[in-house]
Amino acid sequence: MGAKKLETSAIKSENLRKEPLKLDLEIPENAIEYAPDIRQAGPLHVSGQAELIEEHGGPGGVIEDIRLRAKFGGRFELLCARCLEPSERDLKGEFDLIFRPSSADVRTGEHAISEAETEIGYYEESGLVLEDVVREQVLLSLPDRLLCKPDCKGLCPQCGQNLNETSCHCDNTRTDPRWNALKDLAESIGQPKE
Ligand SMILES: [Zn+2]
Ligand SMILES: [Zn+2]
Repeated sequence: MGAKKLETSAIKSENLRKEPLKLDLEIPENAIEYAPDIRQAGPLHVSGQAELIEEHGGPGGVIEDIRLRAKFGGRFELLCARCLEPSERDLKGEFDLIFRPSSADVRTGEHAISEAETEIGYYEESGLVLEDVVREQVLLSLPDRLLCKPDCKGLCPQCGQNLNETSCHCDNTRTDPRWNALKDLAESIGQPKE
């Protein structure tokens, strides 16, 4: 098999005309900026392949789409949704995406690939930037609400202390306005106070 190692992170259609490009690489820590609450905590392994798919988009027009299929896996540091402390997790995922040249978008015609079958993205003339694709896929793979541990106690809403590490003396039941409203209601209808 003519497996080639990826030399640059931009995948160009002309490099795929002869054969698909095998991907097997490690993206180092800090190479990709994800979001304020997530960072890579070690190399991210990406393996798969990029291949060319020709779409015949009308008289004489051939659109060179890039199909990128790959898996990724690595260790990440995410912030706990309750106490906001960093917590490490392994994230992995796989994707199968089609990218059309951005210049081809204005043309209409028969598409070899139906939009329903797969997600379609776009690539610039300078090539498809692998890191951009990986970044988006990693963000999509994030859990909705990550907790450092299932019973994380979170932060005190008044003094902001991490209640996993320390206990404070704030009375958090009294300041919840919904709770006060209920108490007022109970008093106004003559219920005894607790
Ligand atoms: Zn936590
Ligand atoms: Zn407190």
